Amino acid sequence: MILSSTTLSGLISWFARHKRAMPWRETRDPYKIWVSEILLQQTQVATVEPYYRRFIKVFPTVNALAKAPLDKVLKAWEGCGYYARARNLHKAAKQIVAQDGKLPQTSAELKKLAGIGPYTSAAIASIAFGEATPVLDGNVERVIARVTGEHGFITERTVHTNLRSVAEGWMRSAVKAGHAPGELNESLMELGALVCKPREALCDVCPLKRVCVARKTLEDVTVLPRKPEKAKTPHYDIGAAIVRKNGRILITKRPEHGMLGGLWEFPGGKLEKDESLAECVRRELREELAIDVEVGELLISVKHAYTHFRITLHCFECIHTGGELKLIHAADAKWVRPAELANYAFPKADRVVLEKLVNSHRITLLK
Ligand code: SF4
Repeated sequence: MILSSTTLSGLISWFARHKRAMPWRETRDPYKIWVSEILLQQTQVATVEPYYRRFIKVFPTVNALAKAPLDKVLKAWEGCGYYARARNLHKAAKQIVAQDGKLPQTSAELKKLAGIGPYTSAAIASIAFGEATPVLDGNVERVIARVTGEHGFITERTVHTNLRSVAEGWMRSAVKAGHAPGELNESLMELGALVCKPREALCDVCPLKRVCVARKTLEDVTVLPRKPEKAKTPHYDIGAAIVRKNGRILITKRPEHGMLGGLWEFPGGKLEKDESLAECVRRELREELAIDVEVGELLISVKHAYTHFRITLHCFECIHTGGELKLIHAADAKWVRPAELANYAFPKADRVVLEKLVNSHRITLLK
């Protein structure tokens, strides 16, 4: 499906009138656009803004980011989740500085950097450098699927190829009509976020309503795009220990590679079959750190959802009773004064545990 120049102009002027103010829309600095696109990969715009401001304040240039230790980068990212993004940003900044210190200008070159895939490279190349490459994120795919009346499962390769070729056609027409590639991409992304939403479509105010097949043919446009039923998300119980010694608390660092890599946490692990939570905590600390603990009161249980599974984190008061600490599975371990815990980057669930324990005075952490 081709869009006429009048429809494209309508879409782009709708964007000019309705786009939300965002700090990364006020800059042409490719580094800042890159940081914003990485933050936006898994996180909603409203959530991203404070993290973006904090990150740019701590690391205003690619040089500053490349020079920083990973711990500092993870601390600046703390709370935003999907920490592989921060580790990859750091790695890519080092790659850039090792070359000429400038972000590559094409999507093909950008894709060679850590953490930059087809979507992010297209977004950066089109917005920062004017490359005529369409962006196909979830918002854009939804808009195109509805406008074209695509009924195939969005997860199928052929459907994705169809949507991409429609997007490429729209991009060619937009460039021919004199619009900047980034403008078209941002207009479609914003339309998907504000008007053509997953569970609600505000068709009456949509700049594409005259050409939209879903609007003309379906009673409920939100049935598109079609997705296969999701498998049930698994749940795991995790036993963790607040181990105290001489007024300090034991924290461990996860290995750099893998989920939540490089972050600090209260030691513990997954509950095994036919095991009590207390047994789990004792076993985990022996396996991870070669120490014995006496497991006391259950202090708190916190639920948290990751993309592919959910956990309940059960934290127990523990006393170190024996064994010399060895790093068997952890990358590092420290006995930290409670007041210093704020200096370490924790995963969300551990941070919530810490905050709740402090707020409830069940345990005086900040002394
Ligand atoms: S007319 Fe409705 S369904 Fe079609 S693109 Fe606009 S908001 Fe989405």
